[in-house]
Amino acid sequence: MAASDVHEVIVIGGGPAGYTAALYTARANMRPLVIEGFQWGGQLMITSDVENYPGYPDGIMGPEMMQEFRRQAERFGAEFMTEDVTRVDFTEQPLRVFVGDDAYATKSVIVTTGATARQLGLESEIALQGKGVSYCAVCDAAFFRDKDVVVVGGGDSAMEEATFLTKFASKVTLVHRRREFRASPIMTDRARANEKIEFALDTTVSEVTGLDEGRVTGVVVENVHTGEHRSIAADGLFVAIGHDPTTGLFADILDMDEAGYLLTRKGTTETNVAGVFAAGDVQDHVYRQAVTAAGSGCMAALDAERYLTSLESDESGESAS
Ligand code: NAP
Repeated sequence: MAASDVHEVIVIGGGPAGYTAALYTARANMRPLVIEGFQWGGQLMITSDVENYPGYPDGIMGPEMMQEFRRQAERFGAEFMTEDVTRVDFTEQPLRVFVGDDAYATKSVIVTTGATARQLGLESEIALQGKGVSYCAVCDAAFFRDKDVVVVGGGDSAMEEATFLTKFASKVTLVHRRREFRASPIMTDRARANEKIEFALDTTVSEVTGLDEGRVTGVVVENVHTGEHRSIAADGLFVAIGHDPTTGLFADILDMDEAGYLLTRKGTTETNVAGVFAAGDVQDHVYRQAVTAAGSGCMAALDAERYLTSLESDESGESAS
């Protein structure tokens, strides 16, 4: 293989971590290839106002912020492929990243594949996806103008989505399986203060109705203490119950914790494979913020740059001896 066929760095994934890694590696003349995935932009594409990213005192919409991140990396020469990686081979240098039958060889890889939305796991939920069942309020809220919707979850995502949905829907019922919320008090208080939001607590969704109609007509919920079932009429169901890391590609290749998050050496972005680094939510189930993802993307870029420098000095040492 000609040396020119081998990339310096491939970034897998296109969220705050990936685009920051692309920006830093591009400015370090590493000419990054970013295989960003069909669903580039990551979770910020389903976030409305981002109020906690420093530098945006008036807030910014998540999708707009991701476009800005991407444009900034592009300005310094990052190359983008809007494709999904299908396989990796990290057994030897150069490392290989596959998109279908096409293999891309590279000296280093930065993994920033993030995490994806959890599903309730109901057959009726799956059958009605795109027919009223959604995992993305920002994408789909406008379809529910003057309609009733249900949101499931008790974390910040559920509070944020319920609050956002009230801009369109006439009523939002937030269904949560406990009485206590995992969400931060400020987000919970905002939702509680919103008179369009009703709470159904100690309650789970046992079925989504509307299979015969081909669209969501409501949900059947169950009280976890009494076992009592009741129906809530709704045109939409927004599932906001957290995320799972996107690490299936790396099973038996990169070290992971029990939940599937990639493990990195403390204080670095190094994985167990030399030349492979991980940044963002794919390796962080604690902080999971855009700003921490971007910060770790920067760390991964600097770690990759140092790794390439060490590879070069090894190679020149070998050729000198
Ligand atoms: P999360 O904090 O993990 O909360 C998930 C919620 O869904 C929990 O209340 C959980 O219930 C519930 N849940 C999980 N599986 C369920 C199931 N099978 N059936 C019913 N309910 C289920 O996830 P998140 O809300 O997506 O937040 C993730 C992280 O992102 C958090 O750190 C959050 O602070 C952050 N975030 C921040 C913002 C913001 O600041 N603007 C917005 C969104 C998210 P239990 O509580 O009973 O476990």
